[in-house]
Amino acid sequence: MPEAKQTILIVDDTETNIDILLDILNAYDIVVAIDGESALEIASEDNPDLILLDIMMPNMDGYEVCRRLKNMSHTKDIPVIFITASTDEDSIERAYEVGGIDYVTKPFKPRELTARIKTQIKLKNLLSDLNFIASYDYLTKVYNRRKFFELANKMFAQENEKLFAIMIDIDKFKKINDAYGHPIGDEVLKAVAATIQACVSKDDLFARIGGEEFAIICRCNSDEEIMQKNEFIRQSIEELEVNIENGIIVKVTISNGIAEANDTDTLDSLLKRADDALYEEKGEGRNKVIFRN
Ligand code: GH3
Ligand code: MG
Ligand code: MG
Repeated sequence: MPEAKQTILIVDDTETNIDILLDILNAYDIVVAIDGESALEIASEDNPDLILLDIMMPNMDGYEVCRRLKNMSHTKDIPVIFITASTDEDSIERAYEVGGIDYVTKPFKPRELTARIKTQIKLKNLLSDLNFIASYDYLTKVYNRRKFFELANKMFAQENEKLFAIMIDIDKFKKINDAYGHPIGDEVLKAVAATIQACVSKDDLFARIGGEEFAIICRCNSDEEIMQKNEFIRQSIEELEVNIENGIIVKVTISNGIAEANDTDTLDSLLKRADDALYEEKGEGRNKVIFRN
């Protein structure tokens, strides 16, 4: 599959500049804004891979546009290269101060401009890959253990009333690996993670925190509600059929241990109680949900 074309947003109030840039950057998809306000709008909506931003514009200058872009969570990571006629140090220093990553001076040198753009897009892609690796589990693509603790601590610090921790462990998973091999075990892990992810709501924190162990932090209004939610998850896994080659279907069950945060809890003590509940049911035959207060 050919790589998707990258999109560059050009922001400039001078038509001739835009024409020159369109000519130089014909390998890219280009969107154009002729003033600051529409640049902010387009950047928000189109999520371009890079922005070429003129400094001198009426109403809102390039510095202000950049400052605003860097203050919005969904646009802050788009690299901004300033295009400017001025080469004085003050202007250049300011370009970096407001969050620009590079600057090019007019008149444009086509090959230099293209090289700089390529470098910045490559860096941006590397950074987003790194962010992904740092936050998501490589196998199941749900949050990893590191991200779980980062976000769980935030949720816990915000408000711990009606906050619940759920520890989930696949039952007798070693037997699946022993019977079908590790690669099939991996497929089962992926299917289990995707099934649980589909059961939780978008405000719930769900992660793979160990080999065949998952955890959820969520808010719930009542004990009944949290039990229902967990029964739903447990049952969804019980009903899950993972098709492997030759028409073989693999099935697994999970055990869920739940605990509700109390006044004296730390995140660790809350998770520990959920873990204790989980181990209690491992002793009681598995494929169950246990809520320990
Ligand atoms: P229990 O019901 O007591 O939890 O039994 P169990 O067999 O699930 O527990 P145990 O902790 O003995 O074994 C967990 C197994 O999970 C062993 C390990 O090989 C497997 N496992 C952990 N991570 C992965 C993985 O990434 N891929 C695969 N295929 N297996 C994994
Ligand atoms: Mg297990
Ligand atoms: Mg385990």
